[in-house]
Amino acid sequence: MLVVESQPQSKIAGVLFDLDNTLVPRKGWLRRVFKEFYKATPLLRASRSEEEVCSRLIEWDNDGDVDRASLYARALKAWPEIGGTPSEWVDWETQAIGSAIEPDDEVLLFLARLREFQIPWGIVTNGGARQRLKLAAAKLDGITPFSLVSSECGMRKPEPAIFREAMRRLGLVPAETVLFVGDDPDNDIVGAQGVGMATAWVRRGRQYPHGMPAPNMLIDRVNDLRPVLLQ
Ligand SMILES: [Mg+2]
Repeated sequence: MLVVESQPQSKIAGVLFDLDNTLVPRKGWLRRVFKEFYKATPLLRASRSEEEVCSRLIEWDNDGDVDRASLYARALKAWPEIGGTPSEWVDWETQAIGSAIEPDDEVLLFLARLREFQIPWGIVTNGGARQRLKLAAAKLDGITPFSLVSSECGMRKPEPAIFREAMRRLGLVPAETVLFVGDDPDNDIVGAQGVGMATAWVRRGRQYPHGMPAPNMLIDRVNDLRPVLLQ
C-alpha cells in the first residue's frame, strides 16, 4: 500500500533503490541459507531440529544488523560441533546466498516498466563483494543501468557523496526530482533527504521512528510506486 505523507516538491524524474530489503527481501533468502547451513552440519542435525537452528540464527542475525563473522562466531560458541572458523562460515554463506536468492518477477517487471517510461534508475547499496552476487542472483545486474556498491566506490550511505555520485550517474539535476527508495531510516531516508532528494520508505511492518524527518511516502513493496512513477 502507498501512503503519501507529503508530496515531493517536484515531479519525480529518476529513482534510486537500496538493495537489501528493498529490491531483494532478506527474509526470503535468509531462511533458505540457514536451512542449507543445517544440512551442512551433520553433528548439529543429530541433536537439534531444523526449526530450532534456523530460528536461533535468524534471531542472532538481528535483521542483518550484525556482521557475518560475529554471527558465525556466536553459532560456533553455541554449537562447537559445527567446526570450522567464523571466516570459513562467512565464505560458506557467501556461496550459499548465490543459490538462495531467487529473481522476483514482479520487481523485475516493475523495473522494466521504468525503462519503458524512460525513467532513469539505479541501485545504491552498502556492503562488500557479496552485493554483486546478490545482484546477479536476483537477475538485477543485467537490467540495472548502474549499481553503486559502497566497498567498491569508497563511499557509503548515509554520506552525501554517494548520493551525489548516484545523481551524477542518473544524469539528473536537481536532487528534488530524484526519489530514493529504501528501508533504512538513517542510511536511506535521512541520507537522501540530506542532499535534497524525495524519499519513499519500505515499511516492512514497522513504524517510522519518531523524531526523524518523515519520508514523502511509505510503501510495503516497490510496486506500490506504480501510481507515482508509471502514469
Ligand atoms: Mg536495505
